Amino acid sequence: MTRKRKVKMHPQIKSFFLTFVFGIILIIGAIIINQFPDEVNNLIEENLNIPTNSSNLISVNTVDTTVVSSDSKLQIYFFDVGQADSSLVIADGQTMLIDAGNNEDGKLLAKYIKALGIKKIDYLVGTHPHEDHIGGLDDIINNFKVEKIYMPDVTTTTSTFQDVLEAISSKGLSITRCEVGNTFGLGDGICTIMSVENEEQSDLNLNSIVIHLAYGDETFLFMGDAEKYNEDKYSWPDVNVLKVGHHGSDTSTSEKFLNSIKPETSIISVGSNNTYSHPSPDVVERLKNIGSDVYRTDEVGTILLTSDGKSYNIQTFMTKLDGNATTAKKSKTE
Ligand SMILES: [Zn+2]
Repeated sequence: MTRKRKVKMHPQIKSFFLTFVFGIILIIGAIIINQFPDEVNNLIEENLNIPTNSSNLISVNTVDTTVVSSDSKLQIYFFDVGQADSSLVIADGQTMLIDAGNNEDGKLLAKYIKALGIKKIDYLVGTHPHEDHIGGLDDIINNFKVEKIYMPDVTTTTSTFQDVLEAISSKGLSITRCEVGNTFGLGDGICTIMSVENEEQSDLNLNSIVIHLAYGDETFLFMGDAEKYNEDKYSWPDVNVLKVGHHGSDTSTSEKFLNSIKPETSIISVGSNNTYSHPSPDVVERLKNIGSDVYRTDEVGTILLTSDGKSYNIQTFMTKLDGNATTAKKSKTE
């Protein structure tokens, strides 16, 4: 008969073994709940060299200039849709609509764009799924031949968002996912995706698709409602015209960002006497301090920029495509 010999572990090996097992359990636990404590994050960064936060600047190559023919022509409408956003870019017969205002603005926008003789929207961009940006997208999809739709790959539970998805599927269309650095042509212009977050963020504004447009020598930056978080994540080229982020809120348009892009002209889409107190006086001051000319839709109405790729002109006219204001006016007089 052999007696089972009890193996006694050396205390140091035992404690190492216990720490090792405990560590493995911790890591498995963290993977299961998908959340690493800071110490683990640091360990991952040190050993794998993968940044786990976005503080590292990412540089995106943009096209500075494009070759335009002598009859090239660019028109950009920054529509007065009240406290909302909608910009139409027409470049040599091709069209891109960035956002379509609030729900109430959709029909007015569709009517106006049709009156310009436009039947097809080549690129329809919903910068992020907030109502003041995607509200009128369903009206655009239902009234025009839409070639391509760009939206960040995130969802929200609102009926506005559902309306957009239904309009897209009823027309047999689909959303094209875009990534930072993607480019596409618009007439003689080149568009570059400068920022987009396709994962859920603390705020949908952070998902905003930001587009840089180069047309001849002129450059434009359309910020959607991107915020300082997005501005800090990338390095930015200087631009001629800035469509200011988040209606001039002070959560966007940092001094550091402005010192990189140095826009000659800045455009703020904002409703008069809005409840958010947009634009922030600080942002307007920051823009003026770097010598930028500021145009606000609440002050000058719809803004039309025209360019031949060598210079640009700005005209303003009091066309109001703000469905909310029209409704308010009507109910007042009725
Ligand atoms: Zn907005």
